[in-house]
Amino acid sequence: MTGAPPRRGALRPAAFLDRDGVINEDRGYVHRAEDFHLLPGVVEALRLLGREHALVVVTNQSGIARGYYTEAQHHALGEHLRALLRPHGVQIEAIYHCPHHPEAALAQWRLDCDCRKPAPGMLLRAAAELGLDLRASLLAGDRASDVAAGRAAGVGRCFLIAPAGSADGADSAADGVFASLLDCAKAVLA
Ligand SMILES: [Mg+2]
Ligand SMILES: [Zn+2]
Repeated sequence: MTGAPPRRGALRPAAFLDRDGVINEDRGYVHRAEDFHLLPGVVEALRLLGREHALVVVTNQSGIARGYYTEAQHHALGEHLRALLRPHGVQIEAIYHCPHHPEAALAQWRLDCDCRKPAPGMLLRAAAELGLDLRASLLAGDRASDVAAGRAAGVGRCFLIAPAGSADGADSAADGVFASLLDCAKAVLA
């Protein structure tokens, strides 16, 4: 007999991370490497979170549905992110994206799907595919829809990243509001 037995009870916690506005500057429909700029402290934040969490990016990419860029371009940018992090010993476990939009320009992607946040589809799929413990996981996003997706999926702690002066932190249903992912990581892991 070969092969390991099923790893029952070995579910891991994840750090679910929105991309634009959490990991990189949100410049609106970012799809080119030259427009992809990591936010300050992100590498250190991912290094800290990655010690005990699977790092899983969950990102709405309606720019695909709108025809602004292709799914291949989205994947290429994901590889660019991985390449930026690799020298720092940071490994993204998976990148989930929703390419849909209910009013998409491209019929192929015109769908009222279950994965576009605030729907929890990407989180639930990641949990099933990667063996993640949602209750023990955390989520960080810069929109209320990120937090709502985490809540709907049963993620234990959902945090909002809202730079000082932004209005996004007000009236938040999040478990905490932080100015950066690094502030969030330090507080959560303290
Ligand atoms: Mg965002
Ligand atoms: Zn979708």
